[in-house]
Amino acid sequence: MSDQLAALRARYVAFKERGLALDMTRGKPCAEQLDLALGMLDCLGRDYRAADGTDCRNYGVLEGLPEARRLFAELLEVEPAEVIVGGNSSLALMHDAVVLGLLKGMPDSQPWRGRHPVKFLCPTPGYDRHFAICERFDIEMIPVPMLADGPDMDWVERLTHADPLVKGIWIVPRYSNPGGVVCSPQVVERLARMQTAAPDFRIFWDNAYAVHHLVDTPPALTNVLTACKAAGHADRPLLFTSTSKISFAGAGVGVVAASPTNIRHLLGGLGIQTIGHDKLNQLRHVRFFKDAAGVSAHMRRHAAILRPKFDAVQTVLERELGGGGSTTWSRPLGGYFVSLDAPDGCAARVVQLADAAGTKLTKAGATFPSGRDPRDRNIRIAPSLPGLDEITQAMELVAICVQIAALER
Ligand code: PLP
Repeated sequence: MSDQLAALRARYVAFKERGLALDMTRGKPCAEQLDLALGMLDCLGRDYRAADGTDCRNYGVLEGLPEARRLFAELLEVEPAEVIVGGNSSLALMHDAVVLGLLKGMPDSQPWRGRHPVKFLCPTPGYDRHFAICERFDIEMIPVPMLADGPDMDWVERLTHADPLVKGIWIVPRYSNPGGVVCSPQVVERLARMQTAAPDFRIFWDNAYAVHHLVDTPPALTNVLTACKAAGHADRPLLFTSTSKISFAGAGVGVVAASPTNIRHLLGGLGIQTIGHDKLNQLRHVRFFKDAAGVSAHMRRHAAILRPKFDAVQTVLERELGGGGSTTWSRPLGGYFVSLDAPDGCAARVVQLADAAGTKLTKAGATFPSGRDPRDRNIRIAPSLPGLDEITQAMELVAICVQIAALER
């Protein structure tokens, strides 16, 4: 055993003896972040009426309260008529839009599901729950490399142009999960303009981290709906967002925005599922945040809590792994994750080693379709939930595990 490996193993054993029980797996807000929205719990008092007099305690208003549609239209830079304010989860809206496509098609098409497999493009590394939706419904996932400015558009154009069975692409446009990538204006333009063999091709534009900046001057994001309209493909994008990591995770408000044609089609499906979403929660959100400026001010408070945690990840990784080796990691300007690429063939071993020393990491491979990372190197790190000291310890342990795994190989 080399001296270096022996020294690393000694540090590793010392970590084990600390009896840590840390969890860096899912991107959940910490309690301090959730506290920021506590005022939402009593901001309604007994005033349950929307601005137009609607009694929010009762059924109805499937498309969402007008003032809630206005708030999210302002945030997403679309028209209120292009917005549906739904229940507590944008992921559920994405799931249902996929199912609608499979069973009923889009407004301009037949059901996607037929004799041949439906295919989706999956920029990788990406969000495991997007991939899980595809897997559940036997949608063939075609991995597409994620570059520094968005999905590799040469691949995307080639694949969508060649194959009418390619019906969709998942994109987290600003602060991708896990890479923190922001789609450049050029990528958005190409997505809007590209010629797809499937006339009913849809971009699942999951803007989950639309306002989740860690910096004061965030990178701009081109409006995909506007770009698609200008390119003559107004029905191409379905935009999703939610307040899960703005107000309360699991008790926020999920939103979908799209062309009026798509909105009508989606409402047709939603109206079978529910008589209306939770309007009291929509009203709470509008009363609490008031407008997009209110949301921005609130998100600056989130950033003040999150920034030191993301900085701690960078500091430890730089100190432990920064010597120009073959481990690389993202330096996100927003979002919830840091994406670490260990040397090839090491990710599963790193996760195993860290787990045995009391630190849970997201399963290796989770950021790839079907959980298979062809290079076994990507690890998603979620620093939001643990405290600063825990993050520092966990990242030091991760760095030790990366080096041990690399030397073992
Ligand atoms: N989309 C992305 C990219 C996410 O990272 C997450 C949560 O981690 C979600 C969607 C979940 O959204 P919601 O809570 O609105 O269902």
